[in-house]
Amino acid sequence: MKTIIMAGGMGKRISSMVSDIPKPMIKIEGKPVLEREIICLREQGFTDLIITVSHLAEQIINYFGDGSSFGVNIEYYVEEVPLGNAGALFKLKDKLKNDFLLLNADSIFDIDFNRFVNYHKKVGALVTLFTHPNSHPYDSGVLISDEKGAVTAWLTKEEIRPKWYRNRVNAGLHVINPSVLDFVDVDVNKLGVEIDGKRVKIDLDRQILKPLCGMGKMFCYDSPEYVKDMGTPERYKTVCEDYREGIVEAKNLKNKQKAVFLDRDGTLNKYVGFLRNIEEFELLSGVTEAIKKINDSGYLAIVITNQPVIARGEVSYEQLQEIHNKMETLLGEKGAYLDAIYYCPHHPHKGYYGEVPELKIECTCRKPKPGMLLKAAKDFNIDLSQSWMVGDGENDIRAGKEAGCKTALIGYENYSQDVSVSSLLDFTKSIFGG
Ligand SMILES: [Zn+2]
Repeated sequence: MKTIIMAGGMGKRISSMVSDIPKPMIKIEGKPVLEREIICLREQGFTDLIITVSHLAEQIINYFGDGSSFGVNIEYYVEEVPLGNAGALFKLKDKLKNDFLLLNADSIFDIDFNRFVNYHKKVGALVTLFTHPNSHPYDSGVLISDEKGAVTAWLTKEEIRPKWYRNRVNAGLHVINPSVLDFVDVDVNKLGVEIDGKRVKIDLDRQILKPLCGMGKMFCYDSPEYVKDMGTPERYKTVCEDYREGIVEAKNLKNKQKAVFLDRDGTLNKYVGFLRNIEEFELLSGVTEAIKKINDSGYLAIVITNQPVIARGEVSYEQLQEIHNKMETLLGEKGAYLDAIYYCPHHPHKGYYGEVPELKIECTCRKPKPGMLLKAAKDFNIDLSQSWMVGDGENDIRAGKEAGCKTALIGYENYSQDVSVSSLLDFTKSIFGG
């Protein structure tokens, strides 16, 4: 499979730090970010690379040459005049016969590329976007999908978005089938040419990807792996720290992950009995700070919640999604995020008015059963013995123990938990310090 790396970016916001080197040559712990990306690809068998370059191209070409000293083959596409960030794809079209990876060299990443490509094939996508929650969703475009993961809307940061939205951001890594290039009406010979004072360019997001929304051909691949933009001096500093601490590599899903599993009601949000009304959803104090600590630690933050209100017919799947969107939006406003949310919609006791009969079952996911934790462990390659279950009830502790996790109770009853804490923040302080 071919990999195209877009390395022509100017890096305007970071140029206060480095003005004379192209952004992909900025060093992370002694090595250019592009070299780190190439090593990550090579180790997973992706060695057939095309790098598109423009700004200070010679520095990149002089450093990497034909790629042989880095164990890969590199071809370059040098953009003489600006073609837009996807213009080069049209110039390279003859070389693109099959699905290819398209990566933005502006971010630092370490992901399991084979897992990404396998997902793309499994869902039969023409385009798969690597999506993840980030610490600044209000400052990023967000993606909305149907229940299968097909993108239905792509809202840029300037566009009006729903009041509550899922924290799901495009990370700039894609698997693309070249047939989507045919959907764009462009005369390749005119690309880069100035017509009536305006240069003909192609923008990837706006002209190729966004028009695919709602067609069932473009999918989100949600992953908690490390992909971070280093476009501002502050973000660059964070990336360097994460690199030093080994977090970038550790989060590759080829490696065993550690997680903090979080109960929802009474642990993250104020306990109100069965939460049916979104207006009643309120985060507890200190929760945002606590989840930020989990995010920074490299542990995954995963919600595990029983929601029998679905089986009871009191809340629909759509309403529950909206409640979770509110939770993600409130957390995102303060820079915290959840890596995944698992819920059990079932309830065992039949015979009530308004219930959803098919959900009134003895399932394997309702806590104190460990089903949701076991599913998360499978989905994200989690080492349960290195992970924690935190909650305010006996069900949480029993499910955590059954799954083989360490357990923390918010409260002081004795359910044989490993530790007792006064709040989630108290827990994260005792485990992660601060
Ligand atoms: Zn269940």
